[in-house]
Amino acid sequence: MNQKELKAFRDALLKEKERILTSISHLEQHTQQVSRGNISESAGVPTHIADFGTDAFEKDLDLNLTSSELELLQKIEESLKKIEEKKYGICEACKKPIPKARLRAVPYANFCIKCQRIQEQEKGRQQG
Ligand SMILES: [Zn+2]
Repeated sequence: MNQKELKAFRDALLKEKERILTSISHLEQHTQQVSRGNISESAGVPTHIADFGTDAFEKDLDLNLTSSELELLQKIEESLKKIEEKKYGICEACKKPIPKARLRAVPYANFCIKCQRIQEQEKGRQQG
C-alpha cells in the first residue's frame, strides 16, 4: 500500500471517528434529557404509564448504541495506531493483506472477510 492510499484510509478513519464522537455526545445529551425529562411531572397520572415503558426502552436503546459506537471508536483508534506502526491492512488472524475493497467499505477492519466469518462463527458459538 502506498502513502497516498494510507493517507486516504487514515482520512476515512478520522472522519468516522469524528462522526462517532458527535453521535455519542448527541446521545448523551438525549439520554440526559430522557432521564431528566417528564417522568417526575407525569408521576401519578395513570394515562402516562405507557409512556414510562417507552422512555425506559428508548434509554436502553441509546445505551446499547453508545456502547457499540464506543467499540467502533476503539477499533478506529487501533487502526490509526496500526497506520503509524505501518501494520495497517494486515489481517490479525492469517497475517495476509486485507483486500483494499474491504478496507474501503470497513476502514477499521481487523480481519479479512474469511477470518472475520470465522470470528463471527466462534462468537455465535460462545453466545450459545
Ligand atoms: Zn485473514
